[in-house]
Amino acid sequence: MFKSVNQLDDPLRLLDNPLTCPGLFYATPAIDGVISRIRIPGGILTSQQVRIVADYATNFGGSDKNVYVTNRANLQVRGIRGTETALITLRSVGLAGIPEIDHIRNIMASPTAGIDKHELIDTRYLVRELDEYICSHKELGGLSAKFSVAFDGGGKVSVCQQPNEITFAAIKKNTSIYFHLLIGGEATNILLEPEKCIFVVAALAQVYLNEVDITEKRKPRLKKLFQEKGLSKTLEQAQKYLPFSLNVSNKTFPLNKNTNYHLGAHSQRQKGYSYIGVVLPLGKLNTNQLYNLASLVDSYGSSVLRFTPWQNIIIPDIKNEFIPEVQEHIENLGLHWSANHIYSGLVACTGNKGCASSATDTKGDALALAEYLQQHITLDIPVKIHFTGCSKSCAYHGQTDITLLGAQKSEDNTITEGYQVFVGSKEVYSFVNRTILPKVILRLLQGYETQHCLNAGGIG
Ligand code: SF4
Repeated sequence: MFKSVNQLDDPLRLLDNPLTCPGLFYATPAIDGVISRIRIPGGILTSQQVRIVADYATNFGGSDKNVYVTNRANLQVRGIRGTETALITLRSVGLAGIPEIDHIRNIMASPTAGIDKHELIDTRYLVRELDEYICSHKELGGLSAKFSVAFDGGGKVSVCQQPNEITFAAIKKNTSIYFHLLIGGEATNILLEPEKCIFVVAALAQVYLNEVDITEKRKPRLKKLFQEKGLSKTLEQAQKYLPFSLNVSNKTFPLNKNTNYHLGAHSQRQKGYSYIGVVLPLGKLNTNQLYNLASLVDSYGSSVLRFTPWQNIIIPDIKNEFIPEVQEHIENLGLHWSANHIYSGLVACTGNKGCASSATDTKGDALALAEYLQQHITLDIPVKIHFTGCSKSCAYHGQTDITLLGAQKSEDNTITEGYQVFVGSKEVYSFVNRTILPKVILRLLQGYETQHCLNAGGIG
């Protein structure tokens, strides 16, 4: 499945035209050092690959040796040095692709593909096929670094709401399974047989490449370009590159929106087996946890670890009788598996440690909030809290219970960092100083516990 070093005709090297999104071959500087992003098509790694990633962070990471799961189920390591040597290590286990196209190996699938009892189709083979297609077509390197494709198998853990440029969402019609094509989140009402999906990605990519200057560092998003062009014109142009017709139905198709089933223990479609979704604090894993998780999946699972776009992990293929034992091991690693844990719904964007657009240290403030809440409240339902340093909301695009939008206030030549607080889509505070934020959020949650309404926290 993986390409070995000598199958590749390009030497290990960094590109000298860095993109704005970090990748392995695009050393993106941030305040705390160079960020390296390891793309994992479908978010699935073997235990051997997990150990190599831990070695990579240990040997080449900066002062922060942690590995972060991103909202694309990729991995990020900060402060990387000696990148070319590091790439040899990663490439030995298939984790460093080809420089020209590495930035677009951004393929998402449900992290429970193949084990979800309710899914309509196991999408893992489509992820592999698309990755192989991308790896063998260097001309796709002209695509925007934001180019992204998702396959949703129609199960209980949906990725339909993730912000992908092209989404294939499985649906059942009569007795057959099709994929509904969405472009930039917009329904096309086109149903495709599974074997046609890669053709459609190739055709849409071609339409995009026909219109952009591929030498430009900042290229437009495919979604934006196609919105400007209009859906029918886009489809008409894509049709020229396809050996079959794109038939637009006059019916609409419901979107699979379920994402709540990935944390905790759940039985799999394979009888007698379960998976456990593990909550990570803001997607962070230290290398000790990574090495131990690799050993855990070797001992109790199928030597595979899955990463989710909600910045958590899934351990699949555990025999049901071993679930309590594995849960104990997870807790011994300082991690959690309950969907009600405060970290289960806490998401933060990179923040001002790694992004110039951020008004605040979102990750630092989110950690401070989590620590405070853990000491003062036990949740009986999952609560989604989203910290974002600016209105772009890179970390999370779905509906959250509480959104905290970073802001700064300037008074007497002093800048104060804080947050605009939203409950659902309603603003309940225009500015809360970051130092009192944990107390304010605690009051909101206590209000919810007593009156089952977040607005009843005595604030709004
Ligand atoms: S949401 Fe804004 S501040 Fe946060 S990472 Fe994205 S661009 Fe930066």
